[in-house]
Parts: sequence; C-alpha cells; structure tokens
Amino acid sequence: MFNERNTSKEIQEGRPDIAIFSIGAIEQHTAVLPVGTDFFIISEIAARVGKQLDAYVIPTIPLGTSYEHRGFMGTVSIRPDTLYRMVKEMVVSCYEQGISKVAVLLGHGGLWSVKPAIRDVNYEHPEGIAIWVCPFDRAMRGPLRDVLETVDKEVHSGEFEVSCMMAIDESLVKMEHAVDHVPSVGREFLDYLPMKTISPGGVWGVPSLASKEKGRRCLELLSIDTAEYIRDTFEQILSLKQRW
Ligand SMILES: [Zn+2]
Repeated sequence: MFNERNTSKEIQEGRPDIAIFSIGAIEQHTAVLPVGTDFFIISEIAARVGKQLDAYVIPTIPLGTSYEHRGFMGTVSIRPDTLYRMVKEMVVSCYEQGISKVAVLLGHGGLWSVKPAIRDVNYEHPEGIAIWVCPFDRAMRGPLRDVLETVDKEVHSGEFEVSCMMAIDESLVKMEHAVDHVPSVGREFLDYLPMKTISPGGVWGVPSLASKEKGRRCLELLSIDTAEYIRDTFEQILSLKQRW
C-alpha cells in the first residue's frame, strides 16, 4: 500500500494499479462527536481497504456538501459543483500517471454530486475506470446487521458513528451528551429541510447503544466488504469493457 508518506520513487517502483481517495465532511455531529467524524471514519476505512488492495491511498478530501447541517457551528460546506470538478480532476490526474483504476469512497450522505462526476469521467475518459462506493450503505444492508441493533434507524451520529469513533479515538467521544432521537420522517427529508428543523439536537439515531467493541467490528467488516466490492467491480467492468 502507498500513501502520502511514500516518495514518488517508491510509488513508481511499486506500480500500484488502483488508487483510492475518499471524501469526508466537516459538519456538526451533535455534542457527542467531533465535526471531523466523517473524515476520521472514512480515512480509517480507506487506509484498511488500501492495505487489502495494495492501492495508492490519496489523502481524504476533508470537505463535502453539508447544506443540511447549516446553522450548527463548525459545519463547513463546499458546493456540489466544486466537488464534482475535484473528483473528475483527481481521477484524470491518476490516469495521467498510469493508474487506470480509481475508487472513490463516500464518507457522508450529502455527496450526491460524486455520482455524475464518476459517470462523466467514465464516458469522457474510457482509458480508465472510476467507481464510487459508499461503504456504509452497502454494509448496512449486509454484514453490519449482525453487529448493530439500529441499522434501520441510523442516519447521523447514532449507534454506528459513535461506535466507530470510540474505536478510532475514544478521547474524542463525549458520551455524557448522548441523546437518542429517531425522527418520524424519511431520510429524504434532508433533501427538503435542514437537520435543525427535523432534529434540533442534530442527531438521527440511537447513540446510547454505541460501544467500542461494536465500532471495532464495524470497521473491520466495512473494510473487508468494501475491498471485496472494489476488487469484484473492477474485474467485472474490465471483462465487460472488452465489448466497448
Ligand atoms: Zn457522519
């Protein structure tokens, strides 16, 4: 695995054929978790996935589109078209140096402009393959069901995120402020209204059920599931691409 700590020479000699970069968010995560929660969790997963795939892991883009968390101190957001351009430019930059497979890991729900960026770059630059993967959405439907009690209720700062942060750095988790709240509306309401109007404390889930052990297992299962998905998806695309 390679990352920003390697020299250019080491990366050249190692010839990684997959590059990974992830996108986090700097946004409110209630009074329990730090604003960098999405950044910390997705960076941890990217590092583990990178190791399994022997990939070049590019540092996580810390910011995403976090309009739904405006009104809470500490939330810093970039526009969807800014993110769209960053993703395309980073993918093409990898292609230019001969890394023709790029996986973009989504660490937060509000990254909807990544999908069109991936689609556009695949049609505009058929010399490479770019894919997006949201490790949480995938694993919540599968392996995490055995670990978490509230997968269907978790949207923001609930059992899952608090557990993962406990496993990453317990000193950043202020459990004494944990308040459970599961709004009665669907998740799509975040496309219509800011979190503040739906849940004044900014939580959507059940943080009181979090534990360090659950977090440790979640991170392990997530990275295995994500690495397998990336490996299989590139293989499938490559074999289908011969018909292009
Ligand atoms: Zn989050």
